[in-house]
Amino acid sequence: MEPVALIVQKYGGTSVGDTERMKNVARRCLAAQRAGHDVVVVVSAMSGETNRLLKLVAQITDRPDEREQDVVVATGEQVSIGLVAMAIHAQGGKATSFLGHQVRIVTDSTFSKARIKSIDAQPIRSALAKGHIVVVAGFQGVDEEGSVTTLGRGGSDTTAVAVAAALQADACEIYTDVDGVYTTDPNMVPAARKLERIAYEEMLELASVGAKVLQIRSVEFAMKYKVPLWVKSSFSQDPGTLVCEEDKSMEDVLVRGVAYDRNEAKITVSGVPDVPGIAAKIFGPLDEKHIVVDLIVQNPSKDGRTDLTFTVGKSDFAKAQEVVRKAAAEIQALGIETDDNIAKVSIVGVGMRNHSGVAARMFTALSSEGINIQMISTSEIKVSCVVHSKYTELAVRALHTAFGLDQPLPPEGVVTVSETAALKGEKV
Ligand code: ADP
Ligand code: ASP
Ligand code: MG
Repeated sequence: MEPVALIVQKYGGTSVGDTERMKNVARRCLAAQRAGHDVVVVVSAMSGETNRLLKLVAQITDRPDEREQDVVVATGEQVSIGLVAMAIHAQGGKATSFLGHQVRIVTDSTFSKARIKSIDAQPIRSALAKGHIVVVAGFQGVDEEGSVTTLGRGGSDTTAVAVAAALQADACEIYTDVDGVYTTDPNMVPAARKLERIAYEEMLELASVGAKVLQIRSVEFAMKYKVPLWVKSSFSQDPGTLVCEEDKSMEDVLVRGVAYDRNEAKITVSGVPDVPGIAAKIFGPLDEKHIVVDLIVQNPSKDGRTDLTFTVGKSDFAKAQEVVRKAAAEIQALGIETDDNIAKVSIVGVGMRNHSGVAARMFTALSSEGINIQMISTSEIKVSCVVHSKYTELAVRALHTAFGLDQPLPPEGVVTVSETAALKGEKV
């Protein structure tokens, strides 16, 4: 028999969407335990539950106290862990559930997007030693003051990887409603293809530009602590996708994936005096309110004034407008304009490091569909464009086709003719 391995499995909202599905989760956990492993399972709230809780909050106020909002939205996971533990009992197994504070998932106090600082592995180890499956609530933690915190949407992925890192688990398996990580969202593009492997860095970029299959922080943790991370389906036996260290053969593929994000909004401060220190006066107060700014574009100045455009998450949009209006008045800018009908479409791949012409090919693909590009941003392995949100799907499909991703993926290490042509900007 294989030596005992410690496995952390995470089941997302759809995978625990009703009690039948919870029984399926219990069966899978018990099967892993029967195969000789120690099993820790992290679960999300039942699908739709976190949204339902947020709607209740919105019915009370449009400016919720963030501490109290976390008290409410963290409850979804409590229901799931109790039910999954009982489903395991009902199938003859032993299981104990733990809320975030019971395993001391200590975070900072940035309510609604808290970051994990430490986890106490001891209660988990004790329960495992007694032969229990340990069921941990995803998404929630506790700050130094003892207040309940949450880790941001999709945060149960991060709980799972952090628990895996704290326990030095042999693997972390993220079970969801698709068979793995695809070349793009398979629910939007049927031609999307499942990847066998993807580099941590590529996954990090894809997650950061909107591929919600993994929360970005979970990938950061996995990369930092070298946790072997699998994405699999809770509804099939497919081996899924391994997120792992990059190797040489991965650079042969120019674009690994295409992602989109409709959760950002755009703010333009117009007629900003073009003098030193102005950007700090706008972005400093945003930072103080923990508002994350994504793309920033500043136009060349005319008559000593310039326009500054940037994007923020939609959930911060109202707060950001308030902050920016105040800052704009202080610096005597001419005004602010806002637009939340935008989408960011992005291409990602480590192969871009060594090849030029990728961005140009992206712009050509978008323009041949008549899609106007509003903002552009690039990094070493990513190009993003902001477009009108009505073009999201068209843009993603066009890019998926333009970079040869509709075709079956070549065996790793082989550069295909179409990719070579793509490098030269030729039509394929
Ligand atoms: P869970 O509730 O299990 O955490 P999520 O809804 O958060 O699941 O993430 C899974 C979803 O991510 C899929 O249903 C799919 O629509 C979406 N997705 C977006 N981009 C990708 C991608 N590149 N590969 C796989 N899934 C993706
Ligand atoms: N329940 C939380 C959410 O819906 C966390 C998660 O599912 O990962 O975002
Ligand atoms: Mg998720």
